[in-house]
Amino acid sequence: MKIFLTATLLLLSNLLLAQTDQKIYDIIHSISAERLENDVKTLAGFGTRHTLSDTVSQTRGIGAARRWIKSEFENISKDCKNCLEVFYQKDLVKKGANQRIVKDVWVVNVVAIQRGTKYPNRFIIMSGDIDSRVTDPTDYTSDSPGANDNASGMAGTIEAARVLSKYSFESSIIYVGLSGEEQGLFGGQGLAKYATDKGWEIMGVMNNDMIGNIKGVDGIIDNRTFRIFSEPVPPTETEQQRRARRFYGGEVDGISRQLARYIHKTVKTYMPEMNPKMIYRLDRFGRGGHHRPFNDEGFAGIRIMEAHENYTQQHQDIREENGIKYGDVVEHVNFEYTAKLTAVNAINLASIASAPPAPQELEIGGIVEAAAKFKWKKATGTNVKGYKIYWRDTTSPTWDHSRFVGDIDNFVLDGIVVDNFFFGIATVGKNGFESPVVFPSKIFR
Ligand SMILES: [Zn+2]
Repeated sequence: MKIFLTATLLLLSNLLLAQTDQKIYDIIHSISAERLENDVKTLAGFGTRHTLSDTVSQTRGIGAARRWIKSEFENISKDCKNCLEVFYQKDLVKKGANQRIVKDVWVVNVVAIQRGTKYPNRFIIMSGDIDSRVTDPTDYTSDSPGANDNASGMAGTIEAARVLSKYSFESSIIYVGLSGEEQGLFGGQGLAKYATDKGWEIMGVMNNDMIGNIKGVDGIIDNRTFRIFSEPVPPTETEQQRRARRFYGGEVDGISRQLARYIHKTVKTYMPEMNPKMIYRLDRFGRGGHHRPFNDEGFAGIRIMEAHENYTQQHQDIREENGIKYGDVVEHVNFEYTAKLTAVNAINLASIASAPPAPQELEIGGIVEAAAKFKWKKATGTNVKGYKIYWRDTTSPTWDHSRFVGDIDNFVLDGIVVDNFFFGIATVGKNGFESPVVFPSKIFR
């Protein structure tokens, strides 16, 4: 009888895991390259989406563009019994805030919240940008289709909302179009501050900026590789935390890096045709993106982006010179690739929003012992199956080893010397979904 029961339970839990897998595959297959193409064309069709451009016209400028984005989110919401809370979040930026703000402007973000069933105040965020620019960043009248930069990321965000709104999740998902990116990351700053003021518990921001170009200026054509940028440690860390790092490690284990590893692993598991490349830096060399303002507020945030950029097709006046066609036009966007990177976002939003919360705090011990020891604060919630300890060689970028240890709050890994590895812990849900890994923040003897 006992054997029979155990066998039945095993079968049931395997069935549950199979359902989890199936849900992820269904999400991947539901992302439509055709809808993405339509949306990129619509966005490019507003002529310019420069942050300082016309806001009155129904057909041209950023005003028309953001009203269209809002109405798309509202249409999606209608199809899911009003499952999205759609609103504008805006801040007035005064002329001269920097050299690119040549007149007072309302920087307006379009926000859609899919409220979590269990953790309404915990959020995982997907962002794209509404705004575009040409060669002169203050030129707000010339044609600036911004098809890849960043209608692709904006369209991906809308498409993820379309697909994921058919499901419900324990934690909240935010789909957002941010403005003012090209003028100095103003939209991200506005929403990050808004989140802090509201006391939102943000698990991470996946910022999508240019997810449609497969033909690099370097001549390489690649529709499988993409980049995940993450900074090493939060800029908000204290002097004490910085000093502790010298002795206990963590130089490559900040919260944004853990989010990057999580995405890398999910993609390797469910989209084996893709080649995710973790880049160990905040962003491209000397350049910026809208995840940074969230990092500045102490939130985890990464940038998802194509692997091979084409500089003749970004931030350029539309023109032809010496046989080279300049400009960020629709013809250069590969929609199958944009669909792949949208799916990358969607399955990670779904996984994180389905997982129980990560353990709040991990303590580590094992100095001069032949074992690594762990204590943690259990996660809240009824979906917790238990905890998984992860470790890796100090030179490895990925969590290569793991051990599920059940629903307990401490564990000793016998025979593993603490000096030789980095360690972390994740919460495992009964539904099979895991939280991102938490790196130790305290030491015990
Ligand atoms: Zn740009």
